[in-house]
Amino acid sequence: MKTFHCNHCGQVVFFESVNCVNCGRLLAYLPDRQSMGALEPGDGGAWLYRSEHGSQSSYRLCVNYSRHNVCNWAVPAGENGEACLSCRLTQPTPELSEETHRQAWFRLETAKRRLVYTLQQLSLPLQSKAEQAERGLAFEFRAEAPSQSVLTGHAHGLITINIAEADDAIREHRRANLHEAYRTLLGHFRHESGHYYWDRLVSTSARLDAFRASFGDERQDYPASLQRHYEQGAAADWQARFISAYASSHPWEDWAETWAHYLHMVDVTETAVSCGLTLRPDHPGDPLLEPDPKLLRGRRRFEAVIDAWFAVTYVLNNLNRSLGQQDAYPFVLSAPAIDKLRFVHQVIQDHTSGA
Ligand SMILES: [Zn+2]
Ligand SMILES: [Zn+2]
Ligand SMILES: [Zn+2]
Repeated sequence: MKTFHCNHCGQVVFFESVNCVNCGRLLAYLPDRQSMGALEPGDGGAWLYRSEHGSQSSYRLCVNYSRHNVCNWAVPAGENGEACLSCRLTQPTPELSEETHRQAWFRLETAKRRLVYTLQQLSLPLQSKAEQAERGLAFEFRAEAPSQSVLTGHAHGLITINIAEADDAIREHRRANLHEAYRTLLGHFRHESGHYYWDRLVSTSARLDAFRASFGDERQDYPASLQRHYEQGAAADWQARFISAYASSHPWEDWAETWAHYLHMVDVTETAVSCGLTLRPDHPGDPLLEPDPKLLRGRRRFEAVIDAWFAVTYVLNNLNRSLGQQDAYPFVLSAPAIDKLRFVHQVIQDHTSGA
């Protein structure tokens, strides 16, 4: 994620901020500028953004910002609809009108906006189902009830998230039970988006054979594969071939886990580079990192992305250990796992460049 500043006073602000702590201006993320903006009230409910060159643009606050306080994005005045680019992807469900789910909804939307930010940065297709019923993307947040079990998952562009995952205690309990290194809301969003983009970018593309060569044949029985995974666990040697234990359950899950991992890499590296993080160790051979903005734009070499990633995770883990914490990044990437990350990288780059 980029670093953002209040365009009124220059104060550093966060992606989630709603007010500048220095000048008090209302803040919103402006998806058309891919930037945070300080807004001033205009006429008729409009909010005005003044650029550094003095030009003025008009926005509305997303309905989930002004009415429900679960969003901090704005909608450019020229766009239709009450909801922002991120919120229009969420389908209304009865649960979201219940006050008891308000905090869960807030957490879910907060994580989802980070996903949408990265998808937008990578120029991936982001049409909602309202715009493209067949090929569009949608999210729904559902709560379990005696008559309704809810599985987090993806089907035909609809990503369902069990609202209970927004409860830290429940999610941590499941993470420990399933022996997962990570289980976060953002991780769920990234993983499930991988299934959607597999359908869109791989399933009907010329890359399908290359996918099968690397990840395996996805036509093998999916429900049976998952059942086997949950009953018997991952193969003892999964670390030599897969990015996570769950990735070994089926080629689709391997892809989704790898995709999620790639989005982690892109976002964390962007944050490090945007903060100006530099590593110039005294000892030759130690990880080096030069903040190269080119790493984040245009056609990027995979080797540059992964080298920067290793340097960032090296410092991340060492800092965590100094705080007495577990490694922030408890993964060792095998050569086949790195090849799969390269494949995801190429799929995204090819899409972006129209190849
Ligand atoms: Zn400010
Ligand atoms: Zn919104
Ligand atoms: Zn999955």
